[in-house]
Amino acid sequence: MIELEQTSWRRSLATAIRDVDALVRALQLPDEWTANATAAVKSFPVLVPRSFLARMRVGDPDDPLLKQVLPVIEEGVAQPGFVLDAVDDRAARKAPGLLQKYAGRVLLMASGACAVNCRYCFRRHYPYSEEPRRLDDWEPALAAIESDSSIHEVILSGGDPLTLTDERFKVLIERLDQIDHLTRLRIHSRLPIVLPDRVNSELLDQLRNTRLQPVLVVHANHPHEIEADCEEALRRLVRAGIPTLNQAVLLRGVNDDIDSLAGLCERLIDVGVMPYYLHLLDRVVGTAHFEVAEETGLKLVSALRSRLPGYAVPQLVREIAGEQSKTPVVNR
Ligand SMILES: *Cc1c(COP(=O)(O)O)cnc(C)c1O
Ligand code: SF4
Repeated sequence: MIELEQTSWRRSLATAIRDVDALVRALQLPDEWTANATAAVKSFPVLVPRSFLARMRVGDPDDPLLKQVLPVIEEGVAQPGFVLDAVDDRAARKAPGLLQKYAGRVLLMASGACAVNCRYCFRRHYPYSEEPRRLDDWEPALAAIESDSSIHEVILSGGDPLTLTDERFKVLIERLDQIDHLTRLRIHSRLPIVLPDRVNSELLDQLRNTRLQPVLVVHANHPHEIEADCEEALRRLVRAGIPTLNQAVLLRGVNDDIDSLAGLCERLIDVGVMPYYLHLLDRVVGTAHFEVAEETGLKLVSALRSRLPGYAVPQLVREIAGEQSKTPVVNR
C-alpha cells in the first residue's frame, strides 16, 4: 500500500504537462496562445500537473488557474523597477542552500524543483544550479544551523521541499530532529494544492513522528484550486493534526476581485486551513503584468474584513529587502 502511494505521486509528477502545445490542446484554446508563449518558455519552462489542469475550465483563456501557469508575451517585456533578485536572497545566504533574514528561523532550500511553474514566481531567476543537490551537500547548511542556538525553526522551502522523495525527506527530517535547539519544522509547499497525491500516509507519518512541531504552509491563490483531490488532501493533513496555513499572492486577473479572494478564504477555512499571508507581488523580471496596486490590495482586504470572520482574513504583506520581517501593508 505504502509503496503504491509513493510511486503514485512520482508518477503524477512524471506525467505533468511540460510544453505549451500540450497545455493549449488540452484546454482547446486557439493556436495563437502557443505562438505567444514560445519566447517566454525559453527563460522558464511550462510545468502543470494533470490534477491541476483538471480543475481548469476548457476553452477559457481567462481561467484563473491557467493564468498562473500559461506563458504569455508580456513576460518578455522589460519594465522599470522589475529586477532579477527583488528580495535580495543572495545577501541572506548563510551557507549553500541556507537563507536567514529573520530572527530565530532559517530557510533551507531543500529542493530546487517544483511540481508546477508559476509564471509570477519570485524565484524564477534564482540560480538553483548553485545550490545543494545531494544529501551530503546539505552538511554545511546543517552545520550552520547546529552551531547557532538562536535558531528554533527551520523552514523547508525551495523550489518545493515536497518534491524530495519520501526517503530523502525522511533522512532530512531525522537530521533536523537531532538538533537540540530546534523546536519547530515548517514546510512551505504547493504540492498539496497542485499534486495532492503527495499527501500520502508516509508523509503524514513523517510529520507526526518527529519531535519537532510541524507547521505546513501551502500556497493556493483561487477558490477553484481547493477542489476535488486537493480538498481531500488538505482534509487529510488537518485530520492528522498538522497545523496548516495558506499563503497567497495577489495577482492581477487571478484573484484581484473580492469574490475570488473571499471565496478562497472561505474554501480554506471550510477545510480547516487558516489564511496566513496575502503577498503583494515581488517585483521580479517578467512578472509586471501580474502586479496589483497597493491601494487595491488594501481595499480588498478591508472588504474581506467586512464579509468574513476575523480569523479568515490574511495579513496583506510585502517583502522589503533588509527588513526584519515581512512588512504589513496597512492604511496610513
Ligand atoms: C518569508 C521568509 C520567512 C518566513 O517569514 P514568516 O513571517 O515567519 O512567515 C523566513 N525566512 C525567509 C528568508 C523568508 O523570506
Ligand atoms: S511552486 Fe512556489 S517556488 Fe515553485 S514556481 Fe510556484 S510559486 Fe515558485
